[in-house]
Amino acid sequence: MLTLLWAFPSSAQRPFHYRPDAFPPVDEPAPKVLNMASTVAEMAGWDRYPTYETYLAMMQQWADEFPTLCHVDTIGTSIQGRLILSMYIEPQTDDDLYRPEFFYSSTIHGDEVTGYVMMLRLIDTLLHGYGSNPQYTDLINRTRISINPLANPDGTYYRGNHTVQGSRRYNANNVDLNRNYPDPFGTAKEALQPENDSMIAYVSAHNFRLSANLHGGSEVMNYPWDCFTSVSNPHPYADWWKEVCHRFVDTSRTYNSSHFRDVYESDDGVIAGGDWYVIHGGRQDYMNYYHNCLEVTMELSSSKTLSTSRLNEYWDFLQHSLVNYIAEIHSLPGTSGIGQPEEAGMRLCVYPNPAAECVVVKGLVPGMMLEMYDMTGRRVMQGTKPVLDLTALPAGIYLLRCGAMTARVVKE
Ligand SMILES: [Zn+2]
Repeated sequence: MLTLLWAFPSSAQRPFHYRPDAFPPVDEPAPKVLNMASTVAEMAGWDRYPTYETYLAMMQQWADEFPTLCHVDTIGTSIQGRLILSMYIEPQTDDDLYRPEFFYSSTIHGDEVTGYVMMLRLIDTLLHGYGSNPQYTDLINRTRISINPLANPDGTYYRGNHTVQGSRRYNANNVDLNRNYPDPFGTAKEALQPENDSMIAYVSAHNFRLSANLHGGSEVMNYPWDCFTSVSNPHPYADWWKEVCHRFVDTSRTYNSSHFRDVYESDDGVIAGGDWYVIHGGRQDYMNYYHNCLEVTMELSSSKTLSTSRLNEYWDFLQHSLVNYIAEIHSLPGTSGIGQPEEAGMRLCVYPNPAAECVVVKGLVPGMMLEMYDMTGRRVMQGTKPVLDLTALPAGIYLLRCGAMTARVVKE
């Protein structure tokens, strides 16, 4: 595995690792083969990348085959008119159980396509396993799962809809979409891109509590923040993140111990984003800061555009970790089971409650937004201040969230 190390001048003592965005990607030895599937049937062996049309056909076929289990959401449209889709998996049931929402999204960098196929295969595995595989059945019964396999289709199909050869990182405007999100502490260089604009609308319309953004070019679990080092501003749930990321890596290594080993600082395959290298405008920080959604960046393969002959190997060692990560939503920090506060000390404290005008909130998590939802799940308020003015809201029950902590508020 290629690792570039060099001394950093004087003050900074630690060596520096290769940055996937700044240096040529680690690549596989030739010959690299990128076979394409021009039909859904040709995807059966999971050893090809789908053409754009095949991708659309796969999503449609699943929706047709499992109409009571899933539907396809159109998140938006790319600059060149390609669809940004998500498979939303949720069984139609009569109960009104609370099911937390989970989100996977891959290939915001168009040439990092390993996660693209992993997500398609995950969709296929979950849908076909429902009702027969107890683990998948239980997970789907308790969780609403949205899977967006391809966040930057123009980058992936840069050379046309029928090949991923020559795919590239950027969108059609030459913008790195993972540097283009609102950043609480950075300045966006470019205008918000259509792909991200529609993604923001999508996540704003949902209440995702746990998510992951899938990349390639290294093998490491990169937890928030990306815009701070762990010393300058640790994530409020840094300890939890380390545990979750280690579970992911350790599980995958039981199937193939050679993976998650190419970041110098992190032989254990887990690193705080800013300790690897600081970025601004990344989606991970955006989701954590603006949506209270615990999002991690999964760097899944050393090669960005993995040889199709290796896709099965990667699935074999990643599939259990990818499924288990979804289940982590049921043990978020400070909660038990279905996301209710576990200990009094972990609860948001609100007073007066009920209230007609203003409430004061105690127990906010530093660095996390406070959000308020109505009973339909619609977000009605967002901010960082501990005093909330309720006068504009209709009477009723509302849910407050900060990080994983919640509280009910009654407006009189
Ligand atoms: Zn990337």
